[in-house]
Amino acid sequence: MAPEQHLRAYVDYLRDMGVYDLYHRDDPVLLMPDSLREKLSAATQPQIPASQPAPGNRAAPPTRSAPNISVPADPAGAEFTSPMPKPPSFDALAPLPAQIIRAADRVTALEAVRAEIGDCSRCPLAYAGRHTIVFGDGDPNARLMFVGEGPGADEDASGLPFVGKAGQLLNNMIAAMGLRREEVYIANIVKCRPPGNRVPEFVEATTCSQFLLQQIDIVRPEVIVALGATAATYLLGVKQSLASLRGQWHAARGAKVAVTYHPAFLLRDPRQKVEAWKDLQRVMAEMGLTPPKRSS
Ligand code: URA
Repeated sequence: MAPEQHLRAYVDYLRDMGVYDLYHRDDPVLLMPDSLREKLSAATQPQIPASQPAPGNRAAPPTRSAPNISVPADPAGAEFTSPMPKPPSFDALAPLPAQIIRAADRVTALEAVRAEIGDCSRCPLAYAGRHTIVFGDGDPNARLMFVGEGPGADEDASGLPFVGKAGQLLNNMIAAMGLRREEVYIANIVKCRPPGNRVPEFVEATTCSQFLLQQIDIVRPEVIVALGATAATYLLGVKQSLASLRGQWHAARGAKVAVTYHPAFLLRDPRQKVEAWKDLQRVMAEMGLTPPKRSS
Protein backbone atom coordinates (compact mmCIF):
# COMPACT_ATOMS: atom_id res chain seq x y z
CA MET A 1 0.00 0.00 0.00
CA ALA A 2 1.35 3.45 -0.88
CA PRO A 3 2.20 5.62 2.15
CA GLU A 4 -0.59 8.12 1.33
CA GLN A 5 -3.17 5.32 1.09
CA HIS A 6 -1.87 3.87 4.33
CA LEU A 7 -2.17 7.22 6.04
CA ARG A 8 -5.65 7.76 4.59
CA ALA A 9 -6.76 4.33 5.84
CA TYR A 10 -5.35 5.04 9.29
CA VAL A 11 -7.10 8.41 9.47
CA ASP A 12 -10.37 6.71 8.45
CA TYR A 13 -9.78 4.13 11.16
CA LEU A 14 -9.30 6.90 13.75
CA ARG A 15 -12.46 8.62 12.52
CA ASP A 16 -14.30 5.31 13.00
CA MET A 17 -13.22 5.50 16.60
CA GLY A 18 -14.45 9.07 16.88
CA VAL A 19 -10.99 10.65 16.89
CA TYR A 20 -11.12 13.79 14.79
CA ASP A 21 -8.39 15.98 16.23
CA LEU A 22 -4.98 14.70 15.21
CA TYR A 23 -1.66 16.21 16.18
CA HIS A 24 1.93 15.13 16.19
CA ARG A 25 3.76 14.27 19.34
CA ASP A 26 6.85 12.32 20.32
CA ASP A 27 6.85 8.84 21.86
CA PRO A 28 5.86 9.28 25.54
CA VAL A 29 8.42 6.68 26.58
CA LEU A 30 11.15 8.70 24.91
CA LEU A 31 9.95 11.81 26.69
CA MET A 32 10.23 10.15 30.10
CA PRO A 33 13.00 11.30 32.40
CA ASP A 34 15.75 8.68 32.78
CA SER A 35 14.83 8.02 36.43
CA LEU A 36 11.26 7.16 35.48
CA ARG A 37 12.36 5.02 32.55
CA GLU A 38 14.64 3.01 34.86
CA LYS A 39 11.81 2.59 37.39
CA LEU A 40 9.50 1.42 34.64
CA SER A 41 12.00 -1.00 33.23
CA ALA A 42 12.63 -2.47 36.73
CA ALA A 43 8.90 -2.83 37.24
CA THR A 44 8.47 -4.74 34.00
CA GLN A 45 10.79 -7.58 35.03
CA PRO A 46 8.98 -10.95 35.34
CA GLN A 47 6.70 -10.85 38.40
CA ILE A 48 5.75 -14.53 38.67
CA PRO A 49 8.43 -17.19 39.00
CA ALA A 50 7.68 -20.04 36.59
CA SER A 51 7.62 -22.53 39.47
CA GLN A 52 5.01 -20.68 41.51
CA PRO A 53 1.71 -22.61 41.73
CA ALA A 54 -1.40 -20.92 40.36
CA PRO A 55 -3.69 -19.40 42.99
CA GLY A 56 -6.97 -21.23 43.71
CA ASN A 57 -7.85 -23.89 41.21
CA ARG A 58 -7.24 -21.66 38.21
CA ALA A 59 -5.24 -23.30 35.46
CA ALA A 60 -1.61 -22.27 35.68
CA PRO A 61 -1.06 -19.20 33.53
CA PRO A 62 1.43 -19.68 30.71
CA THR A 63 4.86 -18.37 31.64
CA ARG A 64 5.31 -14.94 30.15
CA SER A 65 8.40 -12.98 29.44
CA ALA A 66 8.51 -9.51 30.85
CA PRO A 67 6.80 -6.96 28.63
CA ASN A 68 9.45 -4.96 26.91
CA ILE A 69 8.52 -1.35 26.50
CA SER A 70 10.67 -0.84 23.48
CA VAL A 71 10.04 -3.99 21.40
CA PRO A 72 6.95 -4.08 19.27
CA ALA A 73 6.60 -1.57 16.50
CA ASP A 74 3.46 0.50 16.78
CA PRO A 75 0.88 -1.09 14.50
CA ALA A 76 0.36 2.31 12.92
CA GLY A 77 3.65 1.62 11.22
CA ALA A 78 2.56 -1.80 10.01
CA GLU A 79 0.47 -2.75 7.02
CA PHE A 80 -3.06 -1.67 7.84
CA THR A 81 -4.80 -5.02 7.56
CA SER A 82 -1.91 -7.13 8.82
CA PRO A 83 -2.10 -9.02 12.13
CA MET A 84 -0.97 -7.07 15.15
CA PRO A 85 2.72 -7.40 15.95
CA LYS A 86 2.75 -9.60 19.02
CA PRO A 87 4.95 -8.91 22.04
CA PRO A 88 5.75 -11.88 24.30
CA SER A 89 2.81 -11.25 26.61
CA PHE A 90 0.17 -11.15 23.87
CA ASP A 91 -1.44 -14.56 23.99
CA ALA A 92 -4.96 -13.97 22.67
CA LEU A 93 -4.35 -16.79 20.23
CA ALA A 94 -2.83 -19.21 22.78
CA PRO A 95 -4.80 -22.42 23.42
CA LEU A 96 -7.56 -22.12 25.98
CA PRO A 97 -6.72 -23.55 29.40
CA ALA A 98 -7.84 -27.18 29.51
CA GLN A 99 -9.55 -26.63 32.82
CA ILE A 100 -12.89 -24.81 32.84
CA ILE A 101 -13.30 -23.02 36.16
CA ARG A 102 -16.44 -24.27 37.91
CA ALA A 103 -19.16 -21.65 38.23
CA ALA A 104 -18.86 -21.70 42.03
CA ASP A 105 -15.12 -20.96 41.85
CA ARG A 106 -15.16 -18.09 39.41
CA VAL A 107 -15.34 -15.30 41.98
CA THR A 108 -12.25 -16.70 43.71
CA ALA A 109 -10.46 -17.16 40.39
CA LEU A 110 -11.19 -13.56 39.39
CA GLU A 111 -9.98 -12.39 42.79
CA ALA A 112 -6.74 -14.27 42.17
CA VAL A 113 -6.25 -12.41 38.88
CA ARG A 114 -6.94 -9.13 40.65
CA ALA A 115 -4.38 -10.08 43.30
CA GLU A 116 -1.85 -10.92 40.57
CA ILE A 117 -2.31 -7.44 39.11
CA GLY A 118 -1.61 -5.93 42.53
CA ASP A 119 -0.65 -2.26 42.57
CA CYS A 120 0.44 -2.61 38.98
CA SER A 121 3.36 -0.69 37.53
CA ARG A 122 3.95 -2.84 34.43
CA CYS A 123 3.27 -0.09 31.90
CA PRO A 124 3.53 3.70 31.61
CA LEU A 125 -0.12 4.22 32.62
CA ALA A 126 0.88 3.49 36.22
CA TYR A 127 2.87 6.73 36.12
CA ALA A 128 0.38 8.77 34.18
CA GLY A 129 -1.97 9.88 36.93
CA ARG A 130 -4.18 6.84 37.42
CA HIS A 131 -5.90 6.67 40.78
CA THR A 132 -7.61 3.31 40.65
CA ILE A 133 -7.11 0.08 38.76
CA VAL A 134 -10.47 -0.69 37.15
CA PHE A 135 -10.60 -4.46 37.09
CA GLY A 136 -14.05 -5.36 35.78
CA ASP A 137 -17.59 -5.72 36.98
CA GLY A 138 -20.55 -8.02 36.67
CA ASP A 139 -21.59 -11.64 36.74
CA PRO A 140 -18.61 -14.04 36.80
CA ASN A 141 -20.85 -16.56 35.01
CA ALA A 142 -22.15 -14.12 32.40
CA ARG A 143 -23.09 -15.40 28.97
CA LEU A 144 -22.32 -11.97 27.54
CA MET A 145 -19.27 -9.79 28.07
CA PHE A 146 -18.69 -6.21 26.95
CA VAL A 147 -15.14 -5.01 26.45
CA GLY A 148 -14.33 -1.31 26.22
CA GLU A 149 -11.12 0.61 25.74
CA GLY A 150 -10.05 1.91 29.13
CA PRO A 151 -11.33 3.79 32.17
CA GLY A 152 -12.23 7.45 31.95
CA ALA A 153 -12.26 9.96 34.80
CA ASP A 154 -15.43 8.61 36.44
CA GLU A 155 -14.16 5.03 36.29
CA ASP A 156 -10.74 6.07 37.59
CA ALA A 157 -12.47 7.70 40.57
CA SER A 158 -14.93 4.89 41.30
CA GLY A 159 -12.94 1.78 40.34
CA LEU A 160 -15.83 0.46 38.23
CA PRO A 161 -15.97 0.27 34.42
CA PHE A 162 -18.48 2.26 32.42
CA VAL A 163 -20.05 4.39 35.13
CA GLY A 164 -19.80 7.80 33.40
CA LYS A 165 -21.92 9.13 30.53
CA ALA A 166 -20.76 6.40 28.15
CA GLY A 167 -21.57 3.90 30.90
CA GLN A 168 -25.11 5.21 31.19
CA LEU A 169 -25.56 4.69 27.48
CA LEU A 170 -24.08 1.20 27.77
CA ASN A 171 -26.57 0.47 30.59
CA ASN A 172 -29.39 1.56 28.27
CA MET A 173 -28.05 -0.65 25.49
CA ILE A 174 -27.92 -3.61 27.88
CA ALA A 175 -31.46 -2.88 29.10
CA ALA A 176 -32.70 -2.64 25.50
CA MET A 177 -31.39 -6.18 25.03
CA GLY A 178 -33.62 -7.33 27.89
CA LEU A 179 -30.73 -7.77 30.31
CA ARG A 180 -29.63 -6.15 33.54
CA ARG A 181 -26.11 -4.81 33.93
CA GLU A 182 -25.54 -7.27 36.78
CA GLU A 183 -26.19 -10.14 34.35
CA VAL A 184 -23.30 -9.30 32.01
CA TYR A 185 -19.58 -8.88 32.61
CA ILE A 186 -17.89 -5.60 31.71
CA ALA A 187 -14.16 -4.97 31.39
CA ASN A 188 -11.67 -2.94 29.38
CA ILE A 189 -8.55 -3.51 27.33
CA VAL A 190 -6.54 -1.41 29.81
CA LYS A 191 -7.33 -1.19 33.49
CA CYS A 192 -5.79 2.22 34.12
CA ARG A 193 -7.00 5.54 32.77
CA PRO A 194 -4.93 6.85 29.87
CA PRO A 195 -4.17 10.53 30.48
CA GLY A 196 -6.71 12.80 28.85
CA ASN A 197 -8.66 9.69 27.78
CA ARG A 198 -6.28 9.15 24.87
CA VAL A 199 -6.25 5.82 23.06
CA PRO A 200 -4.01 3.33 24.91
CA GLU A 201 -0.57 2.90 23.39
CA PHE A 202 0.22 -0.48 21.88
CA VAL A 203 2.55 -1.48 24.72
CA GLU A 204 0.00 -0.44 27.35
CA ALA A 205 -2.79 -2.41 25.70
CA THR A 206 -0.77 -5.56 25.13
CA THR A 207 0.81 -5.49 28.58
CA CYS A 208 -2.58 -5.16 30.25
CA SER A 209 -4.73 -7.34 28.01
CA GLN A 210 -3.08 -10.52 29.37
CA PHE A 211 -5.27 -9.97 32.46
CA LEU A 212 -8.40 -9.36 30.41
CA LEU A 213 -7.70 -12.64 28.61
CA GLN A 214 -7.49 -14.41 31.96
CA GLN A 215 -10.83 -12.86 32.96
CA ILE A 216 -12.37 -14.09 29.72
CA ASP A 217 -10.94 -17.57 30.28
CA ILE A 218 -12.53 -17.66 33.73
CA VAL A 219 -15.95 -16.23 32.81
CA ARG A 220 -16.09 -18.10 29.48
CA PRO A 221 -18.79 -15.90 27.95
CA GLU A 222 -20.58 -17.23 24.88
CA VAL A 223 -20.45 -13.82 23.25
CA ILE A 224 -18.17 -10.82 23.65
CA VAL A 225 -19.16 -7.42 22.32
CA ALA A 226 -16.08 -5.37 21.46
CA LEU A 227 -16.99 -1.73 21.98
CA GLY A 228 -15.01 0.30 19.48
CA ALA A 229 -11.87 -0.20 17.48
CA THR A 230 -9.41 -0.48 20.39
CA ALA A 231 -11.33 -3.38 21.94
CA ALA A 232 -11.69 -5.05 18.55
CA THR A 233 -8.03 -4.58 17.66
CA TYR A 234 -6.64 -6.14 20.81
CA LEU A 235 -9.26 -8.86 21.22
CA LEU A 236 -8.94 -10.04 17.64
CA GLY A 237 -5.27 -9.29 17.10
CA VAL A 238 -5.92 -7.53 13.82
CA LYS A 239 -6.03 -3.88 13.03
CA GLN A 240 -8.87 -3.14 10.64
CA SER A 241 -11.46 -0.44 10.35
CA LEU A 242 -14.52 -0.82 12.55
CA ALA A 243 -16.66 -0.73 9.42
CA SER A 244 -14.97 -3.83 8.06
CA LEU A 245 -15.26 -5.72 11.37
CA ARG A 246 -18.92 -4.97 12.09
CA GLY A 247 -21.66 -7.24 10.81
CA GLN A 248 -19.73 -10.51 11.05
CA TRP A 249 -18.80 -12.95 13.76
CA HIS A 250 -15.23 -13.18 14.98
CA ALA A 251 -13.69 -15.45 17.61
CA ALA A 252 -11.55 -14.89 20.70
CA ARG A 253 -10.79 -17.20 23.60
CA GLY A 254 -13.59 -19.60 22.60
CA ALA A 255 -16.21 -16.86 22.48
CA LYS A 256 -18.02 -15.38 19.50
CA VAL A 257 -17.06 -11.75 19.13
CA ALA A 258 -19.27 -9.02 17.71
CA VAL A 259 -17.87 -5.57 17.05
CA THR A 260 -19.88 -2.41 17.46
CA TYR A 261 -19.43 1.30 18.11
CA HIS A 262 -18.11 2.53 21.43
CA PRO A 263 -20.84 4.24 23.47
CA ALA A 264 -18.67 7.38 23.75
CA PHE A 265 -18.66 7.55 19.94
CA LEU A 266 -22.44 7.09 19.92
CA LEU A 267 -22.78 10.03 22.30
CA ARG A 268 -20.85 12.15 19.81
CA ASP A 269 -22.73 10.82 16.79
CA PRO A 270 -26.15 9.59 17.94
CA ARG A 271 -27.18 8.85 14.34
CA GLN A 272 -25.01 5.74 14.55
CA LYS A 273 -27.16 4.32 17.36
CA VAL A 274 -29.35 2.68 14.73
CA GLU A 275 -26.31 0.83 13.43
CA ALA A 276 -25.19 -0.18 16.92
CA TRP A 277 -28.68 -1.49 17.63
CA LYS A 278 -28.43 -3.68 14.52
CA ASP A 279 -25.19 -5.14 15.93
CA LEU A 280 -26.83 -5.81 19.29
CA GLN A 281 -29.84 -7.42 17.62
CA ARG A 282 -27.52 -9.88 15.92
CA VAL A 283 -26.05 -10.67 19.33
CA MET A 284 -29.55 -11.15 20.76
CA ALA A 285 -30.53 -13.46 17.92
CA GLU A 286 -27.39 -15.50 18.47
CA MET A 287 -28.07 -15.78 22.20
CA GLY A 288 -31.84 -16.33 21.90
CA LEU A 289 -32.64 -13.10 23.74
CA THR A 290 -35.81 -11.17 23.15
CA PRO A 291 -36.10 -7.43 23.84
CA PRO A 292 -38.44 -6.39 26.66
CA LYS A 293 -41.94 -5.39 25.55
CA ARG A 294 -42.37 -1.63 25.42
CA SER A 295 -45.23 -0.27 27.51
CA SER A 296 -47.40 1.92 25.25
N1 URA B 1 -14.86 4.02 28.20
C1 URA B 1 -14.33 2.78 28.20
O1 URA B 1 -13.83 2.30 27.19
N2 URA B 1 -14.36 2.11 29.32
C2 URA B 1 -14.89 2.58 30.44
O2 URA B 1 -14.87 1.88 31.44
C3 URA B 1 -15.45 3.87 30.41
C4 URA B 1 -15.42 4.57 29.28
